[in-house]
Amino acid sequence: MKDVCMSEQAVEEKWRRRWAEEKLFLFDEKSDKPMYIIDTPPPFTNGALHMGQIFWISYIDSIARYKRMCGFNVLYPQGWDAHGFPTEIAVEKKYGKGLSRKEFHKRCMEESVANIKTMKEQMSRLGASFDERYEYLTTSDDYLSKVQLSILEMYEKGFVYRALHPVEWCTSCATTISREQAIEKEEDSLLNYIDFGIKGRKSESIQIATTRPELLHACVAVAVNPKDERFSSFVGKRVTVPLFGRSVPIIVEDSADPTFGTGAEMVCTFGDKQDVSLYYKHKLELIEAIDDHGKLKNASRFDGMSLKDGREAILDALKETHLLRKQEKIKHIVKIHDRCSTPIELVSSMQWFIKIREHSEKIRERASEIKWVPDFARQRLDDWSNFIEWDWAISRNRVFGTPIPFWYCSKCDTIVAADKSKLPVDPAIDKAQADGCPKCKGRLVGETNTLDGWVDSSITPLFISGWPDRKSPRMRGFPTAVRIQGTDIIRTWAFYTIFRTWALTNAKPWESIIAHSMILGIDGREMHKSWGNGVYPDEILKKYDPDAVRLWVALCGGIVKDKAFSYQDMDYAKTFATKLHNTARFIQPALEKGRLPKEEPHASFNIFDLWILNRFNSIVREVTEAYDEYNLYEAASKIVNFYWHEFADYYIENVKHRVYSEERNAEKSRGAALFTLKYVCASTLKLLAPIMPYICEEENSLFSKHSIFKEEWPKHTTTSSSPDYVINGILFKNEIADIGYESAGAFLNSIISEVRKAKAKEKKALNYEISSININVPEEYYSVTLSSKEELMQICKARKVVIGRGEYSVKVDI
Ligand SMILES: [Zn+2]
Ligand SMILES: [Zn+2]
Repeated sequence: MKDVCMSEQAVEEKWRRRWAEEKLFLFDEKSDKPMYIIDTPPPFTNGALHMGQIFWISYIDSIARYKRMCGFNVLYPQGWDAHGFPTEIAVEKKYGKGLSRKEFHKRCMEESVANIKTMKEQMSRLGASFDERYEYLTTSDDYLSKVQLSILEMYEKGFVYRALHPVEWCTSCATTISREQAIEKEEDSLLNYIDFGIKGRKSESIQIATTRPELLHACVAVAVNPKDERFSSFVGKRVTVPLFGRSVPIIVEDSADPTFGTGAEMVCTFGDKQDVSLYYKHKLELIEAIDDHGKLKNASRFDGMSLKDGREAILDALKETHLLRKQEKIKHIVKIHDRCSTPIELVSSMQWFIKIREHSEKIRERASEIKWVPDFARQRLDDWSNFIEWDWAISRNRVFGTPIPFWYCSKCDTIVAADKSKLPVDPAIDKAQADGCPKCKGRLVGETNTLDGWVDSSITPLFISGWPDRKSPRMRGFPTAVRIQGTDIIRTWAFYTIFRTWALTNAKPWESIIAHSMILGIDGREMHKSWGNGVYPDEILKKYDPDAVRLWVALCGGIVKDKAFSYQDMDYAKTFATKLHNTARFIQPALEKGRLPKEEPHASFNIFDLWILNRFNSIVREVTEAYDEYNLYEAASKIVNFYWHEFADYYIENVKHRVYSEERNAEKSRGAALFTLKYVCASTLKLLAPIMPYICEEENSLFSKHSIFKEEWPKHTTTSSSPDYVINGILFKNEIADIGYESAGAFLNSIISEVRKAKAKEKKALNYEISSININVPEEYYSVTLSSKEELMQICKARKVVIGRGEYSVKVDI
């Protein structure tokens, strides 16, 4: 026996070294094998993996290993998303806010690179077999160039524009917020009833109700419902905005709700999204209500106040002038920034956009050409793309991000795009190619904002395939084979990737997408530091082998629904690994002692050999189908149940008497049993190797000199029921049982199980010799039971077995 004193960690280390030495997992650009490209999430470089990442890394690595064993030339790169807010925050914490743009960048990169190192160690421990030669960093010059190129190409195609536009804005972070960063929250508020005087009718007024009096100075209209007769005489008149004295029109609008407040609504630029649509529809005036930091603007004596102070001051002033008629407590929904909980405002600002609204149909069309695993995940994308209200605001007011490759004229706003041959550029530092504005010779200003992180990550399938180099050998594998990602980012990462890939190449990004759910805390809630329900990969990998973790990933069913982490499930995976080890360690010495026949011992197979060979053929077929469907739950549970509860619990027990038999004439029977034991055990290791690579490799070394990942995938027959027996996909003719070997074997095992139960009830050992068994069997099982009488006597250690026809019953006489 080898490696008996090596620790499990040492065994892992040994195999990782050997896999690297033998270059087993490298992609070969020159190979003519079918190409299989995997698009995985580039994790944020924050220094530690979380359980969700452990899940997808294990999952996709199992798929990669399976595909290689099936003869594919697999490209499995791994990227890192080094950009982003978390890195900026970490650097600001360490070095303060005084760094220059260049210095800040440098520190952010250092931070990212150090973090990647620790994250890669965890990945490697887990067995991730990605090809390091294709590793990428979203902050590398190469990646930045491709992102900038993709934006320039989309600009040429008319997708990209710069415009003054209301954007969702966090006044605390001073940046635009994308839709998915906004969360809704119910809040207590006051509905304020304010009188607006009618212009030209001194004694008359119209009362509006608003929750946002602090935006009064930016009121540009009052809207009433056309069906609301209370206001019909006012339509077309103008009213005076209290405190500010401006006159604004009364407009009719179906969306004005007669049952809310007074039925007359104040339209500001901008209080909410309805304000935005009314502003465009009625071509209203634009008054910027607040600045980037949430300070009132264009508000005369209230200028510079915070939203909160301004609200108090304006309400006080309204009270003094008796224009605030009443206040009502209400609850309403506000949107807040997920990161800092500041209420989100709508701010007009010059921003870069990508036209997306008008293309949602195309995105759904491409999505329908992709295989979704599970298939209901596609619905999330469809639902989302049905409600695209605005274009995609892609500029972010941050430093550590991909620079937006444009300059614009300070006088006439003409845009100058970067030269494609000079990428990457940073217009905040670099000068434009042109000397001045091509239209008016005005000064060109480099864009200082950076791109939204989803702009970077939505080209991963293109980047890893070698785009835009059409001659890259990797382009043969495009569209890529598969993407894995969480369902929580279908409406962002999947959506933007499908959109951008279509816009740039007209194609879909992948053949298939696997969308997994969340791994929850042990209490079934989302993991949260303050709730103390978190589970951390470092702890888990201390307590369990990577193989057990990976088997747990496969068995937990986290693809279809959110799954709470469970130590019990982990223990189950660990126990199975022990079972696998123990059985292999029983079979190997038996093979050394007994004589293994040189070829298939057809004539010597008994009913139990034929049963397990046929069962195994079915398992190979079902497991292969499950892998092909990316259904690791099916694959793993089929293998585990078969190996544990059919092969180990029954077959091995049933043949022990043949393996240990000292009788001379038992040699052929022993040979058949040894052959079957080895074939089923060694082939099961192959089926399981993608999921549990270390232990399968280790146990396989008992039977083979080659790495298991060099072995061929077990073959199977394509039909589901065959009365003959099958070894590695080859069908052999044998005497045919009426009911097929799978069912015959299962029937005989049920008799053995009854005998075991009877012995256990009397507290007797399994090998305790009993006096007799009386069995009644239904007609269809009669002949097979009768011909197995000798075997049953041996297996059950019974001095006598009596078999009769009738309703099934087993009577054991101890
Ligand atoms: Zn914020
Ligand atoms: Zn100009």
